[in-house]
Amino acid sequence: MDLRALAGNAPLKRQLDQEVQRRGLGHAYILAGPPGVGKHTLARVLSAALVCSARAGDLPCGRCSGCRKVFGGIHPDVVRVWDGERDINVAQIRALRADAYIRPNEAGRKVYLLEEAQNLNDSAQNALLKLLEEGPPYAAFLFLTDNAAALLPTVRSRCEVLTLSPVTPAEAEAYLLERYPDQDGARVRQAARRCEGLLGRAVAELEGTSGGEDPRRNTALSLLDAVARRDELALFEACVALENDKKTWDRDALAALMDECALLCRDALVCASGVDDDSDPQRREEAHRLAAALSPAALLQAMDLFRRLREACGFYIGGGHLAGWLCAALADLSAPGPGGNPKTHKTR
Ligand SMILES: [Zn+2]
Repeated sequence: MDLRALAGNAPLKRQLDQEVQRRGLGHAYILAGPPGVGKHTLARVLSAALVCSARAGDLPCGRCSGCRKVFGGIHPDVVRVWDGERDINVAQIRALRADAYIRPNEAGRKVYLLEEAQNLNDSAQNALLKLLEEGPPYAAFLFLTDNAAALLPTVRSRCEVLTLSPVTPAEAEAYLLERYPDQDGARVRQAARRCEGLLGRAVAELEGTSGGEDPRRNTALSLLDAVARRDELALFEACVALENDKKTWDRDALAALMDECALLCRDALVCASGVDDDSDPQRREEAHRLAAALSPAALLQAMDLFRRLREACGFYIGGGHLAGWLCAALADLSAPGPGGNPKTHKTR
């Protein structure tokens, strides 16, 4: 298979390539991994391979009309069933089942994409199960999920599970420099460094889809600014806003916010050691302010706190719980040292 569009993930590519050589493409895959890891990219490559009309060479060929339509997002036989946003009901699954028995329009196969599959309820999954077991041979299903374990074992056992991993910093940089040859190299390298191996994040940053109004960046800046200024009221207000705006701050957004806060602290540490290479002036300014206000030990402590909270976001924690924890721990961190002089906090 031609999997060059997907960065990193060498073991997964080897596994997939060997399986396809041995048995051809499957009819049901679970693409698993955290947001931004490359599930949509792999789904596009698999969809193209499934509808590609080339008879020889590595699939997808990338040149036939089927491949071009998939990469342009307009192939009539690649159906995005569900975006994970709404609640899916059994009637919709029945409609999908009826659709699956209508032959493909122009390709040899018909591909159904189900995003955020961890949110499919049990009855929807059970209805899908029949289709996986005894659907028409041309139908293929791609489930995209952050958490494959949330799918019913009966569904999982009928699919091939492809687990994607974050890429290394070097892989991220190479991929992004090639994809964005016209962008400022320093900005691209920084996005590579900041994305923690999740290229979707770097792409959102570089394409501005995370936008000038990026709530994650702005909220991280105001949280840490309150810590640097030792302004407990501002800190409290910023934490309460996290709790109140549940629509913006779901678990994924809170996890991304914790990552961003940890990165700002890391930048402040780098800054304290005299290196200064952030191209975002506001982040650079905040890193300087943090480095001046907190000792390296306190910055390390803060990074550890954000990492622990980020892990907690993956399990049980909600906005209110997290905001309370964060507010208490950060207030503690920014409390003046003995004698009320913040400088005595410094280790040297
Ligand atoms: Zn093709």
